[in-house]
Amino acid sequence: MSRAPTPDAGPGTDPTPVEVLRRVFGHREFHGAQREIVEHVVAGGDALVLMPTGGGKSLCYQLPALVRPGTAVVVSPLIALMQDQVAALTQLGVRAAFLNSSLDAVAAREVEREFANGRLDLLYVAPERLVTPRCLELLARTRIALFAIDEAHCVSQWGHDFRPEYLELAVLHERWPDVPRIALTATADPQTRVEIVERLALGRARTFVSSFDRPNIRYTITGKRDARAQLLSFIANEHAGEAGIVYCLSRRRVEETAEWLASRGVPALAYHAGIDGGTRSERQARFQREDGVVMVATIAFGMGIDKPDVRFVAHIDLPKSIEGYYQETGRAGRDGRPADAWMVYGLGDVVQQRRLIDASEASEQHKRIATAKLDALLGLCETAQCRRVRLLAYFGESIEPCGNCDTCLAPPETWDATVASRKALSAVYRTGQRFGAVHLIDVLRGHDTERIRRWGHEQLGVYGIGKDLETAQWRDVFRQLVALGLVQVDHEAHGALRLAPSSRPVLRGERIVEMRRTEERPVRRASKRATTLPQAAAEPAHAATPDDATRLSRLKAWRLEEARRQALPAYVILHDATLAEIARRLPSTLEELAEVPGIGARKLERYGAALLERCRV
Ligand code: ADP
Ligand code: ZN
Repeated sequence: MSRAPTPDAGPGTDPTPVEVLRRVFGHREFHGAQREIVEHVVAGGDALVLMPTGGGKSLCYQLPALVRPGTAVVVSPLIALMQDQVAALTQLGVRAAFLNSSLDAVAAREVEREFANGRLDLLYVAPERLVTPRCLELLARTRIALFAIDEAHCVSQWGHDFRPEYLELAVLHERWPDVPRIALTATADPQTRVEIVERLALGRARTFVSSFDRPNIRYTITGKRDARAQLLSFIANEHAGEAGIVYCLSRRRVEETAEWLASRGVPALAYHAGIDGGTRSERQARFQREDGVVMVATIAFGMGIDKPDVRFVAHIDLPKSIEGYYQETGRAGRDGRPADAWMVYGLGDVVQQRRLIDASEASEQHKRIATAKLDALLGLCETAQCRRVRLLAYFGESIEPCGNCDTCLAPPETWDATVASRKALSAVYRTGQRFGAVHLIDVLRGHDTERIRRWGHEQLGVYGIGKDLETAQWRDVFRQLVALGLVQVDHEAHGALRLAPSSRPVLRGERIVEMRRTEERPVRRASKRATTLPQAAAEPAHAATPDDATRLSRLKAWRLEEARRQALPAYVILHDATLAEIARRLPSTLEELAEVPGIGARKLERYGAALLERCRV
């Protein structure tokens, strides 16, 4: 009755989930709530699974698919993602296939036949296809083990991934009331959760909420000086040769940044909605398949990136909200190994984001929401507390300071900026609330510029009262005043700064203003290896000696060849962590090799000899 691929299972007895986990997937243990979820679905229960990216959602339906009789039907909105999942399952010896628009009629009929004859463990189907009468009839022709609805937040009409076809998926429950359904998403906000339950008729489902913490991601948010130079040194010092994503706000900035990085020897590609579809998918495929490509992109590049070994996500422009920041940074480190979320931001970013909100056609209510979201993000940027504490608090989780973010690793100094703030606010007021930060800083520092003379600003009492701080420090002060809402940006007047009502108590000396020092601090280099990560995220000790490194590169070269031969992404053959572990343990027999996490029965059979050969000498 079991459909688990069983090179060596004894006849008659059904394998337990944990046996399948070890034999087929090559994993030693379940992670987090996986075991509970798997057992619940195997027993026929409905489930709603909320788990962060990289949490191991796929296993929650793939494993029950192998244990329960029948074929699992997986609804997935992205063609590229389906293909990679099916490729990865096939590598494990699981009988999986997909039905989507990338197949021609002949190939699709072949898949349909296999399915109807009960010869598949999993069938992936695009939602628009699934809800057609033809497909529903097909499903009725064989036994269905379960329905999995991946990226379930696509039912949310408020989210940016909305897919109207998802609304029709409730039909599955009407037609197959006894088949368990499992809906999965990495979207954390409670509103979306409610919508999923309602629209997919999951009222009876058990909800499994995991922590949305991503312990292996290190958060760093630093002051913007020269974004490109900062980015280049970050990549060169921390992530040379590794895959990453750089997010920018505009298409032009994407183009310029990608070109510039490429001119400095970083293999960077540009990606945004203005690039034609063919080029876009070709670049996405290169990013996904090749080692060490840096994608410079607008947020048009996002969903469907399930590359596990993205080592960093960099923002050189400010996102719109904490949700956006979390989602974008979440694309780093899905494999659980150390990864960086790195951002630079400055006054210009705050001004620009506020302008985008003011200039939009949205309703007043929408603008208020957008402003509140931006303010929450600015709060995260300016906090002197643990970034992770702030980030997770936004999603309603409370944790202890993490030890793996910039503020934990090098607690920022705060300083009493009351006097400086009063000087800055006075400068804004005395110059008539018509100037931007650059000019105001010139006035405060007592510079002699053409503009100052034209307006007679050297006559003002505030002229030259700010010589005690450097220009860069004043920039930080103005940025934080804007972030704190003490100063407003007047977009009608080209970004002139105006006093906000809340600035009065500061001017009157009734309110103290604390600010963090945002000079770039050399936290990263010194602490890169020294931090202790939480257990699950700890990097396996690897490449410790030069010999290990040589072996590892030999193994990687073999993997690349193998991936090319099969036209698959390298990580589908074997993950980095698995190769690193092999290089470290140097197994000399198949039995020893089988002990390495990530080596299941099929991979052992298929690649064992080649791997052992590369471990000799
Ligand atoms: P998600 O879909 O939640 O982003 P995936 O299902 O892609 O996450 O899993 C993320 C990574 O974790 C994959 O590389 C997967 O092989 C690995 N993984 C999942 N479950 C386990 C486990 N129990 N033990 C070891 N690795 C696991
Ligand atoms: Zn922290």
